[in-house]
Amino acid sequence: MDRNLVPLMPVSEFSLIDRYLATQGLSRSDVALGIGDDCALLLPPTGQHLVVTMDTLVADVHFFAATDPAGLGHKALAVNLSDLAAMGATPAWATLALTLPAADENWLGRFCRGLFALADRHGVQLVGGDTTHGPTTVITIQAHGFIPPGLALRRDGAKPGDGIYVTGTPGDAGLALAAACGKTTVVAEYRDYIRRRLEWPEPRIAQGLALRGIASAAIDISDGLAQDLGHILERSRVGARLEVERLPLSPALAASLDRDAALMFALASGDDYELCFTVPPERTVQLEALVTDWDCCCTRIGVITAEPGLRLIRADGSDFRLERLGYDHFG
Ligand code: ADP
Ligand code: MG
Repeated sequence: MDRNLVPLMPVSEFSLIDRYLATQGLSRSDVALGIGDDCALLLPPTGQHLVVTMDTLVADVHFFAATDPAGLGHKALAVNLSDLAAMGATPAWATLALTLPAADENWLGRFCRGLFALADRHGVQLVGGDTTHGPTTVITIQAHGFIPPGLALRRDGAKPGDGIYVTGTPGDAGLALAAACGKTTVVAEYRDYIRRRLEWPEPRIAQGLALRGIASAAIDISDGLAQDLGHILERSRVGARLEVERLPLSPALAASLDRDAALMFALASGDDYELCFTVPPERTVQLEALVTDWDCCCTRIGVITAEPGLRLIRADGSDFRLERLGYDHFG
């Protein structure tokens, strides 16, 4: 059935699954059995690691209840694909646990449209899940990918002297969120761009794949650049010197805030889903050749140091003070 049609009859869990969740066109040859049975039957490639990640979006915590459901479908998958990208994995399958306060077919149809558009683009097949009724909308996706052993971009591989890089322009999603909460205003011409950066993040899959064998460590920026880079530093038992004036600011961010406030957003606001990674000096030339093919910018923002801790410095050598590192659910 066309998933854009809105039937007039109330529907059960089973017809919701059939009418919407089981309608993805894509079918992968490594899926022996997809949606419809007690379990999916999958054929991981021999000799590769299965790479597994899971992320949850909760209404009123991660998104406004009135958010465009197509954007939610996109984002729920995007945040998972971003984790696979940060590992250097090739995405393959996804499962979806949905808790919904009502069987709203219009909502579900649009949700699936956003979800499947991104899934199709990355060759990801939805192979199963669970659908439950509950007091608030909760969306959990588990994504699965592959990587040959030894090639994963882990958090614990950074060494003193490695360059620190970031894709895209961090801070945009945080600006969009601050604007939506009425805490700041965005120059009118950039409002659409900023909202897209928050609601339709682009997982950096191609970049993660290209960085296999080149990056010594990588992470995706979900909670803020400073905080997420901090995870690399901790796991690698190193420190970093970050030159804050090198941070790539989007024209939207630069035009909407004064420079220090813009740098603060780039360093400490979450939801960007850009990649932050480190590259040893001997592979810098390889990296520079690679990035010319990328559809996003890639900027060197600092260097890994032997002494622990994250130092933020301005162009004149003075310290840049950061009030908070990033987002913390329980902080
Ligand atoms: P069971 O009760 O055996 O767990 P369900 O009735 O919950 O099975 O689900 C029936 C089929 O629909 C299963 O193959 C399951 O993986 C799939 N399914 C259920 N909910 C979802 C969902 N939200 N997204 C994708 N597939 C789903
Ligand atoms: Mg069963």
